[in-house]
Amino acid sequence: MTMAIDNILNRLDRVKETGRGKYLACCPAHEDRSPSLSIGEDDGRVLLHCFAGCDPESVLDAIGLTFSDLYPEPLGHHFKSSPMRTSPREILASLDHESLVVALIGADFIRRKSLDQETWSRLAKSVNRINSARAQVAPLKQWHGPQQATSKTSDRSEARESA
Ligand SMILES: [Zn+2]
Repeated sequence: MTMAIDNILNRLDRVKETGRGKYLACCPAHEDRSPSLSIGEDDGRVLLHCFAGCDPESVLDAIGLTFSDLYPEPLGHHFKSSPMRTSPREILASLDHESLVVALIGADFIRRKSLDQETWSRLAKSVNRINSARAQVAPLKQWHGPQQATSKTSDRSEARESA
């Protein structure tokens, strides 16, 4: 069980385990007499479904959480402080994790045609992490055309601007 799902289950009433990693609880977003909110997990992401039709956003709102609370704990905050000591395995794990987050946010965006503030900043975080991971496997210098890389000094400032 991840912290993301714990955090949600702790705020719900009459939580009942219905299967491995699957739960039912009273939906906090409507007058729920018999538990009709299903809570599950997919790749660490918490999935909420109210059989009465409440959307996940109002369910989260009712328990004081936001969309980003459905996502697993982020990895890789250490990239910025010590970029040279990050192992290829960690870089890969971070790229894998962040690309999953981006894919999930993208799927939600396609469905809702909008992103809330929290999701937007989570997406920005992912972009930053993917960029810093990519900078380690594919140095920024190589992304510029040969005609732009005139000197080492300008090269470095360009890399900083696009980072
Ligand atoms: Zn409901």
